[in-house]
Amino acid sequence: MNDGGKLTVLLTGAGIGIGAATARAFGDAGYRVIVTDVLDEEGEGVASGINADGGEAEYHRLDVTSTEQADAVVGGVQERYGSLDAVVANAGIAHRVPLPELSDEKWDQTHEIDLKGVMRVCRAVAPAMREAGKGSMIAVSSIMGVAYGWDEHVQYSAAKAGVVGLVRGLAVELARDGVRVNGIAPGYIRTAQALSEEHSLGPEGLEQAAEFIPMGRAGEPEDIADVILFLASDAARYLTGQTIIVDGGLLVGRY
Ligand code: NAP
Repeated sequence: MNDGGKLTVLLTGAGIGIGAATARAFGDAGYRVIVTDVLDEEGEGVASGINADGGEAEYHRLDVTSTEQADAVVGGVQERYGSLDAVVANAGIAHRVPLPELSDEKWDQTHEIDLKGVMRVCRAVAPAMREAGKGSMIAVSSIMGVAYGWDEHVQYSAAKAGVVGLVRGLAVELARDGVRVNGIAPGYIRTAQALSEEHSLGPEGLEQAAEFIPMGRAGEPEDIADVILFLASDAARYLTGQTIIVDGGLLVGRY
């Protein structure tokens, strides 16, 4: 299958933010782009934008807390286009929850999306990728998962650290079948998540952060998208099991 040699990528949480920018980057690079999200209108908009620009994209609703949906969407796409060439497990939530309010339900909600949601899509695409002997999985972690401790976001830091472990284990498990698995750990990126005053830095906090980020600015979704595109590409053919920090020098520059 994979008609005309066209590569196919599926992204989760791709209606807005980093996922949307990454979908557009793959579209510009000539991939067939399967945009998924729980935000139907936004997801449809991203797909039609790629099509309007001369690319090829389609939208499917995929709530990553549902194994049934993950398996069904991936199965349907594979039936039509063959094994996926790349999957970007990007969907995530970051809620502010002080420890006294951190109920089992709140903890589980974040883990269901930010960690188990990654596993669900990787598990769904793996059999066909292994059979094809090729494929690239990219999971979105965070600087809050690889280095920083984020107060009042313990469940988020834990889930994002879990993504790093998932990437390592899966990379080893799938390497001999030609499937690479990598992560990306963004710093402060200008999206709805970071701009939320309730749950994150908010617009002012993001501007203040720019002062102590060595490169002097918060990141844009496209800064992350281009690195994800690289990780999916053949230029990264010998790279697996790594989580790449993309933060404008934040982690190495703060001491
Ligand atoms: P965003 O703008 O909030 O986009 C995340 C997308 O995922 C939204 O469309 C969101 O929908 C969707 N989503 C939420 N729950 C979902 C579910 N159960 N199934 C499928 N999709 C779901 O966030 P972003 O900043 O682009 O973040 C993208 C990824 O990067 C996340 O994993 C995030 O944790 C990570 N990250 C972001 C930053 C940053 O500074 N922005 C830094 C480090 C890591 P709703 O809006 O309805 O929730």
